[in-house]
Amino acid sequence: MRLYFHIPFCHRKCSYCDFYFTTQIKHQSRFVKALYTELDLRKREWQNKAIRSIYFGGGTPSYLKTGYLEEILNHLFQHAKIPVNAEITLEANPEDINPDTLRSWKNAGINRLSIGIQSFDDGILKLLNRNHNSKTAIQSIELARRYGFDNINIDLIFGIPGMTSEHWQKQLETFLQLDIPHLSAYALSIESKTLLQYQIKKNILRLTPDECYERQFKLTRQMLLSEAYLHYEISNYAHPGKEARHNTAYWQGEPYAGFGPAAHSFNGKNLRKFNPPNIHSYMKYMEKHENFEKFEVLKPRELYNEYLITRFRHLVAGVPEAEIARKFPEFFDYFINQARKLAHQGLLKKENGRWLLVEAALFTSDNILTQLIY
Ligand code: SF4
Repeated sequence: MRLYFHIPFCHRKCSYCDFYFTTQIKHQSRFVKALYTELDLRKREWQNKAIRSIYFGGGTPSYLKTGYLEEILNHLFQHAKIPVNAEITLEANPEDINPDTLRSWKNAGINRLSIGIQSFDDGILKLLNRNHNSKTAIQSIELARRYGFDNINIDLIFGIPGMTSEHWQKQLETFLQLDIPHLSAYALSIESKTLLQYQIKKNILRLTPDECYERQFKLTRQMLLSEAYLHYEISNYAHPGKEARHNTAYWQGEPYAGFGPAAHSFNGKNLRKFNPPNIHSYMKYMEKHENFEKFEVLKPRELYNEYLITRFRHLVAGVPEAEIARKFPEFFDYFINQARKLAHQGLLKKENGRWLLVEAALFTSDNILTQLIY
């Protein structure tokens, strides 16, 4: 079993973000109480189970007052079976990383940090309305290392309005100089109702052309492969052995339980469960000791589509043909026909019984998937 905790607090709103969060930290202690209630209400899902990874995401979980994470993890260590090698990740923003927080996270058992750097360029950080600058970004990585965190991911974003390939190359060079074992390199996406969308609509910023996105995606792959990183998922690169185990479990369709507002859970078969969508409704439900019963039973077609979307993202594992035949016999013929057509066009390949995207198709993987889903 895998556990996910959605911690919905942020210092301020980044210009591109449409995740659920609040800036009202006065709710933190009430929220943490609600989290314990939820853990108690759903104890059958996690108590006495082997928990192979735990992920604190958000929002900005590093913004949670020091001590809360220690308490939550103590509680889990007492009531679940957490092996010593379980991966325990905290998403952290550079401005929250200091000797006190690092000591506390280390004590709590956190062994992997995913740091929201996004860029090493002050102009871009300003444009994205991030709460840190490039100096804080680099210092936070160095400090995390000094306090014993060697399993670190950083997030960087490409395709930002005005960003040239030379500029993106500099970001990657800084990443490589810092010798960090894992990179999540995301293409900026323009979400509705964000400041960024408004700025583009009003011509304050220019939308990045598709060819720039593609050049920057290819540049990332080329630079990281030449430094012996593994490109193991569309947006993720790692030193061998440092792949994110928690996220890989999502891409492999394993069960997970999500806690906190807007979190969801999956039983590994066909059932998805949704939590209340915002912190206020979440806390109200928990204070009434009521579970929020919103479920979705996935139909065979949805399961087939989701299977392909997640498995193809995992570039190393790909899609085993025998598994499609076993799990989705009703869609097997359709899949094989489509896969063969795409192979004929040079977009897919079959190796050792697995279907994989070819290198030239990685950037357009979404288009390819639309031809495989039903
Ligand atoms: S810190 Fe993360 S979750 Fe919070 S507003 Fe920025 S991008 Fe969104």
